[in-house]
Amino acid sequence: MADSNEFAGKTVLVTGSSRGIGAAILSAFGRAGANCILNYVADPEGRNQAEAERVAASLPKSQIIQADVGDPGQVGQMFEKVQGDFGGLDVLVNNAGILKDRSLKKMSAEEWESVLRVNLNGTFNCIQAAGRVLREDGRIVSLSSVSGAVGFFGQANYAASKAGIVALTKVAARELASRRITVNAVAPGFISTDIHRGMPEEVRRQFLAQIPLGQFGEVDDIALAVLFLCSARARYITGQVLHVNGGFFM
Ligand code: NDP
Repeated sequence: MADSNEFAGKTVLVTGSSRGIGAAILSAFGRAGANCILNYVADPEGRNQAEAERVAASLPKSQIIQADVGDPGQVGQMFEKVQGDFGGLDVLVNNAGILKDRSLKKMSAEEWESVLRVNLNGTFNCIQAAGRVLREDGRIVSLSSVSGAVGFFGQANYAASKAGIVALTKVAARELASRRITVNAVAPGFISTDIHRGMPEEVRRQFLAQIPLGQFGEVDDIALAVLFLCSARARYITGQVLHVNGGFFM
């Protein structure tokens, strides 16, 4: 795992970090000494808040901020709070994402728009607002997906949002380079999390057969790739997409 104190004194915000890959990324930063800011979006049952509190309680230095990344007003308030409480930010990880799969023929406007709103608008909202508070030598990493490169059946909304993140990453990398802020994307393949809950067993088997390394990825495989891109060792890497997929797409 990550060096124990590599991110000591750094402030890190990971969107959608109450569970899954986001929680693993934030926990890895926590183990490496960072001040961790956990973001989640509230649900009526309070389940997400409970999960956020459980993850935050396992981290030595953490704070929770509730905000819907698709809402520019809430995102603006989140980054104002970060500025007020920590005096700035060192690392932003845009991880929040949702799926609503449907074939093109059947996809509703709501299914299209809601996925674009969280995945692509959410990443834009956070990059724009973070640009005002990120310190020099800061880092931005956004979660794209192998789907954005391959374009899986039934994922017009999701694949378009994840491909859009790649273009947004390149633009932001150019625009923020004068402050030595690097901007990259990580594109996971199949990682075992809630997002695949409900995938039929036969489909799972078919995908598994196409992965040269012969297994689905773990959340820490993604966390380690993100930490590398945020480390001093990656200071000269910007505008890139790092595919982490066991060789499924190359
Ligand atoms: P999960 O569904 O397990 O977690 C998604 C996270 O996003 C949750 O913490 C959720 O918060 C949060 N979230 C959803 N909507 C919002 C919102 N509007 N504002 C703030 N947070 C929100 O997904 P994974 O951990 O599997 O995926 C994480 C990222 O990695 C996503 O961007 C996904 O597209 C990408 N990815 C995942 C792959 C995989 O195989 N798992 C493959 C390729 C890409 P809450 O709990 O509060 O709802």
